[in-house]
Amino acid sequence: MTEVERHSYDVVVIGAGGAGLRAVIEARERGFSVAVVCKSLFGKAHTVMAEGGCAASMGNANSNDNWQVHFRDTMRGGKFLNNWRMAELHAREAPDRVWELETYGALFDRTADGRISQRNFGGHTYPRLAHVGDRTGLELIRTMQQKIVSLQQEDFKKYGDYEARIKVFAECTVTELLLDNGAVAGAFGYWRESGRFVLFEAPAVVLATGGIGKSFKVTSNSWEYTGDGHALALRAGAKLINMEFVQFHPTGMVWPPSVKGILVTEGVRGDGGVLKNSEDKRFMFEYVPEVFKGQYADSEGEADRWYTDQENNRRTPDLLPRDEVARAINSEVKEGRGSPHGGVFLDIASRLPAEEIQRRLPSMYHQFKELADVDITKEAMEVGPTCHYVMGGVEVDPDTGAASVPGLFAAGECSGGMHGSNRLGGNSLSDLLVFGRRAGLGAASYVDGLKDRPAVSQSDVDTAAAMALEPFNPPAEGAPENPYTLHTELQQSMNDLVGIIRKAGEIRQALEKLANIRRRVGQVEVEGHRQFNPGWHLALDLRNMLLVSECVARAALTRTESRGGHTRDDYPSMDADWRHRLLVCSAQPGDNPLVPDVDVAVKEQVPMRPDLLELFELDELGKYFTDGELETHPGRTA
Ligand code: FAD
Repeated sequence: MTEVERHSYDVVVIGAGGAGLRAVIEARERGFSVAVVCKSLFGKAHTVMAEGGCAASMGNANSNDNWQVHFRDTMRGGKFLNNWRMAELHAREAPDRVWELETYGALFDRTADGRISQRNFGGHTYPRLAHVGDRTGLELIRTMQQKIVSLQQEDFKKYGDYEARIKVFAECTVTELLLDNGAVAGAFGYWRESGRFVLFEAPAVVLATGGIGKSFKVTSNSWEYTGDGHALALRAGAKLINMEFVQFHPTGMVWPPSVKGILVTEGVRGDGGVLKNSEDKRFMFEYVPEVFKGQYADSEGEADRWYTDQENNRRTPDLLPRDEVARAINSEVKEGRGSPHGGVFLDIASRLPAEEIQRRLPSMYHQFKELADVDITKEAMEVGPTCHYVMGGVEVDPDTGAASVPGLFAAGECSGGMHGSNRLGGNSLSDLLVFGRRAGLGAASYVDGLKDRPAVSQSDVDTAAAMALEPFNPPAEGAPENPYTLHTELQQSMNDLVGIIRKAGEIRQALEKLANIRRRVGQVEVEGHRQFNPGWHLALDLRNMLLVSECVARAALTRTESRGGHTRDDYPSMDADWRHRLLVCSAQPGDNPLVPDVDVAVKEQVPMRPDLLELFELDELGKYFTDGELETHPGRTA
């Protein structure tokens, strides 16, 4: 029998980024006991790295802003593939969630008259991102941690124990979800430091594990983002949607090689920075796609005037949605007009006074000074696309965050649907707050309605332990494999063959490479003991990365069109027949229990509610929808 430390909670939240913490607060406020488990230190999550801000239509910088405009921008950014109900809830609720953070103690930057300041970002019609310099995520996490401490102080008063109803399990990785009769019964994991096993018995689990970026070689993501929540959900029987849509942020550092991929916030362009090629040309004017024609400035003069007069000018194409800008940079580099190290130039030095750059973008200033020896107040940055965000994730009910497995919930980057084929910058921090809260509430209501608590079976615990320990066993046949080698091969294949521009032949090659890695993953052998053993940790993460990479590649091969974060060289146009079709990945029992086979099925999107459809001009919808879908639009029937 496996030796395992046991804990029992009402709700277990896996992940302590913005989505996880907001879910914890909500479930605890509804009176339930909550464990929050995170792979790294408490407070170290992608959310803390978020720079630019949190999108919410508070209308402080432009009073024309409101939830309907935000909803429209989000749907346009996602090329109308978004789950419209999620986009609606998000746009309606984001302002309240930002205000609520201030009641927890957050302090956003202010306008001259004392309101929360809002900055421009790609794809947002009005300045909409509430921010704290370029360290917004840090303020979000700091505030929610502070709120959690205040709840723990309340619990101390009542129960004499700070951890009576919220306990943090940091540096603890969950490797398996455990079920009872098809419903969630708990989660199994290990302490990273000691390697000892830990079991959380709970009827509800909220997945808030963030992204999958470490499956790609060049990425803004840090080591934790190995698609664990995506894989846990799949293996438990839930489904993933939209996995073909991976966002390549247009501006990652390209030099020096050791820091390639690190993010350069879109806030640089929001605050006036412009993209230039090696001929010193502002090339984005050449890349405004048909669907956005008329919405963006067509001269440098108008683009520059827009920063101070948005009523009478159109926005700069430097702030087109990320997928458009990333593809434009890719084309400039391919056509020989790139910067010396294979990117393009991002110039803020010639656009703002030095002290203003340092005030507005302190992290960017230090990042370039320290990592690349570049003073961004004097010279342009070199930037290029980097894998940044996954739009695909666990398919959930928009209102409650519930996945198809009873007791399983998901929120934040590991859930899918909200952002459609492409996320707008700033819409993730607001997504975390809106849907983190809803998932916490969903989990609390689910537990409230349960008659019996599910039970974890000992044999499931033993199986989870045996799977986790497998890398310590020599392979049954063949030579042992090294997890680092397999990880490098996986990242290279995904980067080169399922990256920013895709074609069928290359995706098939990627699938062959993934099949080869899949055969070898069972032969992985690691040295040493269970005490802090990074090789072992990677061996376990590798299975998850392999599973989600297969989802990305299979879905990318199936979707024969280009849309948002999925660009097919062999199908370069958007196809209205694909707009309403979602690709759903599920795990199939196969001969490899460590990495189950992936099946991809097509599912029809629920048609948009008429009152939401009416928020758009018929002309615009005609660029995305089929004729049949628009038959009942009032613009046509009138
Ligand atoms: P995360 O914040 O990524 O947290 C995931 C948590 O899950 C972590 O605690 C991790 O340890 C834990 N975890 C993962 N796997 C396991 C496991 N197996 N067991 C236990 N714990 C696990 N978005 C914006 O809206 N605005 C911005 O300005 C912005 N800037 C960004 C800048 C950078 C550099 C990056 C990388 C992203 C940025 N984003 C921004 C995107 C945004 O930060 C992320 O999408 C968002 O923070 C994800 O939040 P989350 O709560 O879903 O997960």
